[in-house]
Order: sequence, then C-alpha cells, then structure tokens
Amino acid sequence: MKQKKFMLPESEIPTEWFNMQAIMPNKPLPILNPATRQPMKAEDLYPIFCEECAKQEFNQKDEWIPIPEAVREQYSAYRCTPLVRAYELEKALDTPAHIYFKNESVSPAGSHKLNSALAQAYYAKQQGVTNITTETGAGQWGGALSYAASKFGLECAVYMVRASFNQKPYRRSIVQTFGAAITPSPSMSTRAGKDLLTINPNDQGSLGCAISEAIELALTTPNCKYTLGSVLNHVAMHQTVIGLEAEKQMALAGEYPDIIVSCFGGGSNFCGTAFPFLRHNIQEGRKTRFIAAEPASCPKLTKGKFEYDFADEAGLTPLLPMYTLGHKFKPSAIHAGGLRYHGAGIILSQLMKDGYIEAVDLEQTETFKAGVLFARTEGIIPAPESCHAIAASIQEALKCKESGEQKNILFCLTGHGFVDMGSYDRFFTGELTNSTLTNEQIASSIASADALNK
Ligand SMILES: *Cc1c(COP(=O)(O)O)cnc(C)c1O
Repeated sequence: MKQKKFMLPESEIPTEWFNMQAIMPNKPLPILNPATRQPMKAEDLYPIFCEECAKQEFNQKDEWIPIPEAVREQYSAYRCTPLVRAYELEKALDTPAHIYFKNESVSPAGSHKLNSALAQAYYAKQQGVTNITTETGAGQWGGALSYAASKFGLECAVYMVRASFNQKPYRRSIVQTFGAAITPSPSMSTRAGKDLLTINPNDQGSLGCAISEAIELALTTPNCKYTLGSVLNHVAMHQTVIGLEAEKQMALAGEYPDIIVSCFGGGSNFCGTAFPFLRHNIQEGRKTRFIAAEPASCPKLTKGKFEYDFADEAGLTPLLPMYTLGHKFKPSAIHAGGLRYHGAGIILSQLMKDGYIEAVDLEQTETFKAGVLFARTEGIIPAPESCHAIAASIQEALKCKESGEQKNILFCLTGHGFVDMGSYDRFFTGELTNSTLTNEQIASSIASADALNK
C-alpha cells in the first residue's frame, strides 16, 4: 500500500516560530502614523494590542521566536496536522504531478486561524489582561478566538458583521458554544455603532465598522485588548508552524515542493505555509515557486497597487505599505468570506514587489468546481476559501500534464466547509455567479489609497 498520510508526533510540534522579517533582503517600509506620517514603534500599539504581539510586529532582528510551552500544549489538541498525498486527485487529473496538502481543517475551530488565536490569547493572559475583543466577517476568526479565550480563561467579545450574523447562524453558534459574547455590528454598545444606527436603524454593517467597534471597546474597557486574525506580521509568524511541520513531513515523503500554493485573504496562511520554504530560496538558492490564489472579485495582488493605505474602511488604523485595492473597496458578496479583504500584509507585499511571489486570481465557480472534485476524490469538503488553493493547484497540475513534467505541488487546506454548505447548495443550483471587476471599478477604488500617497 502506498503511504498517503505523513504524520509527526506531538513531540515534533515546532518549538519556535520563524520570523521572515529577520532575513528579508529588503525589509518592509515602516508603518506610519497617519496624523504625523512618522514611523510607528511597538509602544505606539500598546494601548490596543498586547505588548508581546506589538513587539513581535516590529521585530526585524530575531529569526526564531520561542513558542511558549503553554501554547505548544494547546497546539497538541490538533497538531501536528497531517500532510496528505492526494493520490486520488492526481489520478482524476491524470497528472504526473505529485500533489500534497497540509490539512489545517482538523483544528477544533475547523481552520488554521487557531494557530494565532492561541498565541494571542496566551500573551493577553500573561500580561494580566482579562478581556479580549475582535471583529469577524464570515465568523472563522471569531470561532477560533472564542475557543482560545476559553482555554486561557479570558472573557471574549466578538463583533460580527450584521449581514453575516443573520446569514451564517452556525458560525454565531460556534462562538457561543465556546463561551464568547457575540454582538451583531453595528451595535448600540459603542459610539461608532450608535452613530451608524442613529442614521440607519437597519444598517447591515461592514468589516470596517466591526473593527471600529472592537477597537473602541478595547480602548474604553479596562484590561481589554484587541486581536486580529490576519494581515499583521505577528499573525503571519504564528502561522509558520504550518510550513515548519510541512517541511519535515515532505522530508518523510522523500520529496521537496517545487510549487507551493495557498489561498490569500490577508495572507496569514499563505505566509505561514510559504515562509519556512522561502527561507531556503533566499538563503540557499532553492527555486520553489510560491503562488497566492485570490478571488477575481478581490484581486489585490494581481490588480492592486503597492502603496500606503489604511487597514480598515473607516481609516482608524496606521498606514501600511502594501498591495491594496483601496480601503474604500467594496467586494461583492462572494462565498469565500475570508478572502474579501482589500489589502495584503506588509511583509508579503514587499516580497511580492521584489519578485519572490506570484499570484493568480480565480472565478468563484471555478473554485467550487475544484472543491467538489477534491471532496469526491480526497473525501474532505473544503471551505470556500480553501477551494481557491485547490483550483490553483489543479491549474498547475494540468500544466504538468501538458508538459509531461513531474513536479511536487504542496497546498494548504485552510479549513473544512461544513458550515458553508449553503454556498455549495447555491453552486449546485447554479445560483453562484462570477463577478469580475472592470478596470474602471478598480481604478476608482484604488483612488481612495492614492489620495493618501500624494
Ligand atoms: C480566514 C481564512 C482564510 C484567509 O485568511 P488568510 O489570513 O489569508 O490566511 C482562508 N481560509 C480560511 C478557512 C479562513 O478562515
């Protein structure tokens, strides 16, 4: 029998995260205070974030950061996650490529997001913080954070965009099951929410507004800190456990990836999977290709612009140097909720600018078609976000078929789709549509960032 799963024991859970910033040929440009245009320091973030996370955000010196033992212990509930050779998918595609996937869907929260949620909750507890807060769009991050908060004895308050709160009742139930409070945003609990509801009592909310509410709560509640599930450097670093394990597991399989693919929202799973391998490109001249798979309806890497922009719609955050579609970008309501973000993390953006990374954009229907093929061959129903990585991997595998080359493809299966079956329903009934943006639409939304770079 051919070996399908490559497993590592709990003792092999990484003891350190890999900090890409330390080895980048060109460091990211500084994060700027929007009022003064001066570079920001870790201390500037202390009112909002835990101190340790703020320090990690700016650390360009230490290549390796120790993972606290209490976090490794919590990781052991689901790590090391399996690396799987997708033989059945290879057969269905009739490709000479070897396709591997790292299965992050096995976590209690059902996605890779827990890798950072546990770290952020731990550092909050260490600092004597009692409450943590965040926003959630589709609900994956809220679910992961509520689980992590319960493990470290913290109170957790999640603001969920009102439209999703009503459309995705089970994500809301997951947050409640793990013991967190969940509030539809906009809400009457904050100034930002009240202002919107006064104007329109039926406001359906937005990620930008939910971020404003969560930050306001953190700033006005004693012992309360804000957390974020993607985009930021420290979040990407926490996710490197994915790539570090995969590196050892690929060695068990006796192979090394030629191509690494991940879906791309704010970049945390992409960075976490790619960076431990990218270090070998930079330090030893390896030639692995890294492909970010993004939705055609939110193409910040393939069609966005590299410049300073806000991380949120309201313009409350520092200015980040990144690929962006403009902070006023309004993505269509695609089903991969976790990929509907206007910008990319600053490390990834710099690496993309320097030519280390490639990106492709995919139509929604193509991604679901890929997800269904994956479910029927490999037996796992993928999250709509993960379907993007699968679709891009299939494209590469089919290129191998054409050229007759045997390449090793590795992708990250970020989550399962059990709470997203409504989206699959719509795919089967033909209700899912593709929305490609016109150049005019993209240009007018990027103008909101251009205005900040004058
Ligand atoms: C949030 C999410 C993503 C996208 O986030 P990144 O930070 O880009 O990794 C992808 N897949 C799933 C299942 C998610 O929950």
